[in-house]
Amino acid sequence: MADHVAAQAGESEHGHPRHELSAYARRVYAIRDILLEKGILTGEEIQAQIEYIEARTPANGARLVARAWVDPEFKKRLLADPKAACSEMGIDATSLNEFVVLENTEKVRHLVVCTLCSCYPRPILGRPPDWYKSFNYRARAVNDPRGVMREFGNDVPDAVEIRVHDSTADMRYLVLPVRPKGTESLSEEELQKLVVRDSLIGVVDPLPAVPEQGV
Ligand code: FE
Repeated sequence: MADHVAAQAGESEHGHPRHELSAYARRVYAIRDILLEKGILTGEEIQAQIEYIEARTPANGARLVARAWVDPEFKKRLLADPKAACSEMGIDATSLNEFVVLENTEKVRHLVVCTLCSCYPRPILGRPPDWYKSFNYRARAVNDPRGVMREFGNDVPDAVEIRVHDSTADMRYLVLPVRPKGTESLSEEELQKLVVRDSLIGVVDPLPAVPEQGV
């Protein structure tokens, strides 16, 4: 019955439905309402921030990686000064304090986690996947990175070293994966499609090149 009453109450003053929300979501909306009522934020500012975050997607990371694969000079700049390299590509990373690009090799694979909470290069990739925020991933990425990667379908040979990087509020990471074999003839745009989000976190490799028919 309580649900029925809440549903009848319909939308709140600020236009969000109050029914069917978890306790945490209701708390977030309540905080938002107070910030609006006290004039600390305007509705326009909140909407602008939502649009800013929604415009950040893993496609930005894929663009950086594909450019680094085809342009060795850009790769050097990306590793030496990631924020400047982002700006070259029209990606605004200035809100990040420290930003580090980790280059995977045939001998070393990097894995990114935030053991404390959910720190992630949001200004570049947008919101992290839910599993990245889970307690299970945060604990196991440190204790058993090879096992975690195997569960993502990524069987890293024992001879390959795995380095785990713990993100913080001040330090965010992006993995530069190894370019898949057999992609020499692919364009930068085609290469971008191989760079999946999870390969930028380091749990998996990029997608393999699609073999040509009949070859
Ligand atoms: Fe965090």
